[in-house]
Amino acid sequence: MAYILITGGSWFIGQHLAKKLLQDGENVIVFDRKNSSDIYQEERKRELWTFPNFQYIEGSLEKKENLEDVFKKYAFSLVYHLAAKTGVRNGGKDNDIYFASNVIGFFHILELSKEYKVPHFIFASSSSIYGGNTKTPFSVEDKTDSPLSFYAATKKSNELFAYSYHKLYGMNITGFRFFTVYGPLGRNDMMMDIFTRKILKWETIDVHNNGKMKRDFTHVSDIVNGLLLARTQKNDFQIYNLGNDSPVSIEYVIEILEKEIGKKALRNYKEMEIWEVVDTWADIAYTREKLGWNPKISIEEGIRDFVEQFKKNIGI
Ligand code: NAD
Repeated sequence: MAYILITGGSWFIGQHLAKKLLQDGENVIVFDRKNSSDIYQEERKRELWTFPNFQYIEGSLEKKENLEDVFKKYAFSLVYHLAAKTGVRNGGKDNDIYFASNVIGFFHILELSKEYKVPHFIFASSSSIYGGNTKTPFSVEDKTDSPLSFYAATKKSNELFAYSYHKLYGMNITGFRFFTVYGPLGRNDMMMDIFTRKILKWETIDVHNNGKMKRDFTHVSDIVNGLLLARTQKNDFQIYNLGNDSPVSIEYVIEILEKEIGKKALRNYKEMEIWEVVDTWADIAYTREKLGWNPKISIEEGIRDFVEQFKKNIGI
């Protein structure tokens, strides 16, 4: 029997991907670890457990034996490697954790995918690797050697390791640079979740760079669609941008949130942090051409749905 492995599949993007693949009748194994800081993890897993073709395995990427047990037991037709220590906003703290999950862990899964001859290895990179680039939109052709955070540096290293495994061992590999993903059951540490929660409770939100930063917010359903379209790739190495190609200012996002929530946000305007990128904007011409991918959800529509689901999840 053929299986698809999704690492990080009980958290945000991975769970949305797992759900879609399970609905399509695929046998999905999620490899993930427990994290008490994530308030939605159990709920996400509950949704996945409703599918008979779902299995969950707990473990840590940095312990190779945890992963190897999984590869010994199941033959994977495809590996989606989405697990990572995420987030750029920690100001240079916890670099050892980033290194363990994103460098050592990445090496382990890449090596095992090679050893067990996985036909296609798909992994998550990040728009953060464009770092201090000032030319927009960001194209996959652009230089990516000025990361502003250690997280971004780990993602850049992943792309280099993956390329070398393609060249050395002929592995079929796709990497996706995601741009600020949001959607239902999203991450508690991301802006959309934090702002919505605080606005609902009349708490003050911190708005960096006076709300002038722009982000190319991309709905999780569009991201999942891109991850699925890549499945036809054979004997190749590709890196794609997955972004909305429609950047908006943080101030504009707050205004839409205010409208959908029906409350005014209390703002505390702040300076920018050194690890923050001013604007992000994905050039998706190549993704469109090669994968036929087009983002479908506008920011206005995406936030309307986000707020509705958010209220449901917290029982409003
Ligand atoms: P998430 O934090 O919701 O999920 C990450 C998952 O990785 C979690 O399930 C966590 O348990 C798991 N994980 C971390 N370290 C691990 C370890 N050592 N062993 C086992 N599991 C481990 O993140 P997400 O937003 O769903 O992001 C998925 C991927 O996309 C990540 O690789 C992230 O870097 C990348 N990405 C996300 C965004 C975004 O806006 N959400 C943007 C760019 C890139």
